This record gives sequence, C-alpha cells and structure tokens, in this order.
Amino acid sequence: MAVDVPRIRVGQGFDLHPFSDDPTRPLVLGGVAFPGSRGLAGHSDADVIAHAVTDALLGAAGLGDIGQHFPDTDPALAGADSIDLLCRAVADVRAAGWAPQNVDCTVVLEAPRLAPQRDAIHERLTVAVGAPVTVKGKRAEGLGALGRSEGVACFAVALVVGTS
Ligand SMILES: [Zn+2]
Repeated sequence: MAVDVPRIRVGQGFDLHPFSDDPTRPLVLGGVAFPGSRGLAGHSDADVIAHAVTDALLGAAGLGDIGQHFPDTDPALAGADSIDLLCRAVADVRAAGWAPQNVDCTVVLEAPRLAPQRDAIHERLTVAVGAPVTVKGKRAEGLGALGRSEGVACFAVALVVGTS
C-alpha cells in the first residue's frame, strides 16, 4: 500500500560576525536591540541570528544563500534591518512552494546574556517566519575567538513542507 509521505526538507544556516570597534553601533540579535552592549561589524545591522535563520530557510527551499539574495556589496543594504531581509526571504521560500514549519537556533556568545531578551527574540523571529523559531544561547567556555568575545556565531536548522 502506498504511503503518502509529505514533502519535507531541512536546511542549515550558519553565520558569524566580529564585534565592531565603533562604539555607536548597536547590538541587534534576533531583531532585538541590546542597549549598552557592543555591536557587531557588518554591512547590514549584522544580526547574526536573523542571518543564520535566513540561510537555513533558503537552503531548505533550495534557493541558495543570503549572499546571493542580499549581496553585502549592495549600497541599498547598508545598515539594513535583517528582519526585513528575513521577511523577504520567507516570501521567496513560500513562493517556491515551501512552508516553514519551525526553525531552531544555537547562538554562541560569551556576553551579553540572551535569557532576559529570549522571549522578545522568539516573538520577533516567529512573526517574521510565520512558524515557531526557538533560540538557545551557548557560551564558548573561553575557548577560541568566540570564547575571547571577539564575535558571535549562530547555527540554525529549518524544516519546511511542500505546499504544492
Ligand atoms: Zn551575517
């Protein structure tokens, strides 16, 4: 007997940004600002979580990566709100016939602590993706560049289901 297997795909995302030397740059993680924390360097707002989520969803849908969709050489994207970019990527994923089911992320950083802002991050990302997005914080335990607080990395995995 034939079993009707839903068309499902997974995608992986990874992103990494160094901290900026510019004291005026805000830190934005998952679309949420962390006042008083050093910002990350990057062409856009350097939202490492939003970028990893975007790459995971684009990968799941077979649509390439964030750099192809939003080149960091595009002057129009200087200082861009990465939640806007994520929303545009999600629209492309849906137009290609894939509906996001959930995204789960691990952010690797020594500081600041994510926990006080975790609910706000979940809310912003979940609204942008239209499916549950969860974020876990993990310290690098002093090891390597991340452990020396030189930057922040984020891993993400996304599940999508075919809609056509
Ligand atoms: Zn990035």
